[in-house]
Amino acid sequence: MTGTERIERWSPGDQILWRYRCHAPDLTGHGIEICRPVTVVRDTDEVIAVWMAPGTECVKPVLADGTPVHEQPLATRYTAPRTVVRDRWWGTGVLKLARPGEPWSVWLFWDPGWQFKSWYVNLEEPRTRWAGGIDSEDHFLDISVFPDRQWVWRDEDEFAEAQRVGLIGPEKARRVRSAGQEALGVIQEWGSPFRDDWQRWRPDPAWPVPELPADWASVPARLAS
Ligand code: MG
Repeated sequence: MTGTERIERWSPGDQILWRYRCHAPDLTGHGIEICRPVTVVRDTDEVIAVWMAPGTECVKPVLADGTPVHEQPLATRYTAPRTVVRDRWWGTGVLKLARPGEPWSVWLFWDPGWQFKSWYVNLEEPRTRWAGGIDSEDHFLDISVFPDRQWVWRDEDEFAEAQRVGLIGPEKARRVRSAGQEALGVIQEWGSPFRDDWQRWRPDPAWPVPELPADWASVPARLAS
């Protein structure tokens, strides 16, 4: 860092890729197992906000034999080799928010008809930016937060299994849990983004659904910065 490092900002309406690296045995050849084309809502020093529209074509992991990851028994979910497939995002749209350097992002979910459902705190590696988007690595453990401010840990079983098979070592597991505790502190004091009224945000109806580019994996995960 020189102190004059220039961060290229995206503009609202720009289309970028929100990607996650693979950490199971990886047959992809490029190290990315999730790629979601999204539209930039806001990109400042404080937050990047992106919209994943319903029907967006995405990349998701599957086991080498095509089994969906969540149908694979937990005992072999993280040791069986994986590849990726293209699929549409069939749910309602998702708004993703992230603060630079923070080891989580916060996703907003709605039921059909824009009935706000919950926030989802996805614990993850602080994101790195590259020309075409943002890369991170999922940390298995998550937190759901509801409009009445109740919250619950999610995917404790997957977090435990990832440690059992050595995808996350003891030191990293402590960091992830402690990041989760830090996020709980923000939830309990009802800090950003929970207090920021993003539930009322709506996408610009003129935005097209971004397409998954043919070269979505062209910048290998390990080179992105
Ligand atoms: Mg997660």
